[in-house]
Amino acid sequence: MHATENDLPADDAKDSLATLFEIQRLSTEDGPGIRTTVFFKGCSLACAWCHNPESISARPQLHWIASRCIGCGTCGTVCPEDALKRTAEGVAIDRAHCTTCGACAAECPSTAMEIIGTHWHLDALVHEVLKDQAYFASSGGGVTAGGGEPGLQASFLSAFLQALKQANIHTAVDTCGCYPAQTLDAFLPFTDLVLYDIKEIDPERHRTFTGRGNAQILDNLRTIGARMVSGAAPQELWIRTPVIPQATATEANIAGIGQWIAAHLKGTVARWELCAFNNLCRDKYLRLDRDWSYNSQPLLPLDTLEQLADVARRSGVDPAIVHWSGPTRKPPAPSDEKQERSTAATTA
Ligand code: SF4
Ligand code: SF4
Repeated sequence: MHATENDLPADDAKDSLATLFEIQRLSTEDGPGIRTTVFFKGCSLACAWCHNPESISARPQLHWIASRCIGCGTCGTVCPEDALKRTAEGVAIDRAHCTTCGACAAECPSTAMEIIGTHWHLDALVHEVLKDQAYFASSGGGVTAGGGEPGLQASFLSAFLQALKQANIHTAVDTCGCYPAQTLDAFLPFTDLVLYDIKEIDPERHRTFTGRGNAQILDNLRTIGARMVSGAAPQELWIRTPVIPQATATEANIAGIGQWIAAHLKGTVARWELCAFNNLCRDKYLRLDRDWSYNSQPLLPLDTLEQLADVARRSGVDPAIVHWSGPTRKPPAPSDEKQERSTAATTA
């Protein structure tokens, strides 16, 4: 059993307790084989395009899911802080007064109220992920720690990975790298694969898009590469770059990242993945009462991804390590193009 939502603030999570926002089973995108990905809550960056906005705060948060709400009003009657109001749009949360006690979520008959963020004891989490051992064994998979930034809960992360290695499970850590160098000591010795983000190579643009510069991130990545060259863990390193319109999706950025990898990580990167922007997270922003500047941003066209992948292959890295993934905008159907041409001709 995991602990109740509010028995310990996230910042106090030490060796035996972590705050997670999701455990995703049967994942095939966070390392080799079939994996169980454990998402730690709390992040050191705040990327403008973040696809998991519920991951940024380290603390549990209340979500109201409009599509599930039947308008019964129960939540408002049980809230001890009088933090819920019925409005024409549904239920409004007064977040300044909500203590995330969870009473409304417990009583909501349709699971329209949810607390995102659960505290887990180490032994309970290890037990939970080991339920999937048969999948790991049959597929060459394992467990990935992601987030948010798992390195912010370094003591727990270290203990979790050690327990998994004792059980002979393949381990991966998906990290943004934005933390002091000592954090690497906590998890690298017990990590088989590191998935490391390089989002933007220009320090000022990195600060603009994520709230922080990239000097520490690149220093930590250099350290990982040097450890690999010396034969220390991890055994494998993947780089991931989110390809975001009006931000990281420029030829200069992709070429610059490739040149950096070629200069500083020679021979240690098994895969460099360009991850296409996706807009499936719009509802998550609504549930947190947050605006999202990418709300009406369409997916990138397929040929943009292919062009950027081509830039990556010509940047100085081994071209075989370059891949891209994620959804893209479909090219217009021929009939749509004909219609557009005929409309343009009529207008002219
Ligand atoms: S989580 Fe608790 S304080 Fe917050 S709205 Fe629900 S009942 Fe009220
Ligand atoms: S208790 Fe649940 S279903 Fe009822 S009004 Fe509140 S959120 Fe909606």
